[in-house]
Amino acid sequence: MLEIKDLHAKLRDEEKEILKGVNLRIEKGEVHVLMGPNGSGKSTLANVVMGNPKYVVTKGDILFEGRSIKDLPPDERAKLGIMMTFQNPYEIEGVKFSQFLITSHRKVHGEEKNYLELRRELENQSEKLGLGRDFLERYLNVGFSGGEKKRAEILQALFLKPRLLILDEIDSGLDVDALKLIAKIIADLNKEGVTLLIITHYKRLLDYLERIDRVHVYVDGRIVKSGGADLADEIEEKGYSLEGVR
Ligand code: ADP
Ligand code: MG
Ligand code: MG
Repeated sequence: MLEIKDLHAKLRDEEKEILKGVNLRIEKGEVHVLMGPNGSGKSTLANVVMGNPKYVVTKGDILFEGRSIKDLPPDERAKLGIMMTFQNPYEIEGVKFSQFLITSHRKVHGEEKNYLELRRELENQSEKLGLGRDFLERYLNVGFSGGEKKRAEILQALFLKPRLLILDEIDSGLDVDALKLIAKIIADLNKEGVTLLIITHYKRLLDYLERIDRVHVYVDGRIVKSGGADLADEIEEKGYSLEGVR
């Protein structure tokens, strides 16, 4: 489904490379985990796959279902079914969360469902996440607590139902109950066929997931080691300076 080939990228107005040759292949329906230290370029990788214009690809390619998406604008990538949740979601004053979600749904899926249907779906999903209905009428992320922001990101994923979902540190700053709830929703999305790339520092989210196909250790802009779910235990134990990593 997703194939990243020798991907190099940098910030648009800087020279220094952040991605230094990433190679990654994810098949449809799989769950991949990317773990790496702070500042290693994990969020940059997610942003580059989404097409955030702050970054430029200097070498390599990104294929989605065999087709290069490297030069597509972010909204075209979203239409193909690619979505990321943000580590630090933007606050947008004046835009209601519900309005944002319904507009995004229309952009991605067209007019296949009418407003009332979408609205009902959204309210149900919001309740499922323990956010309630009035939450939907607040401005996007404005004054949301850390945990609420993370849940709001998951609500977007649930509502927009992407085909490939990249979760950037969805688990940071969550208490155990919220973590379990989010893990359950993520696992359910995967069972419905959503392919997952989970970026995290911690193993604790992974403990609640049934399916993990590959774990990748990511250091300084590239994947330095890949393995099964056990690799996450090893990282937890030994840190990122694993033997044989470099
Ligand atoms: P990670 O998500 O692994 O913590 P990031 O991708 O956020 O790493 O950052 C990798 C490096 O690139 C860091 O040195 C960071 O400061 C820099 N960087 C990434 N994005 C930006 C940005 N938008 N503005 C300034 N620096 C950035
Ligand atoms: Mg970081
Ligand atoms: Mg990050």
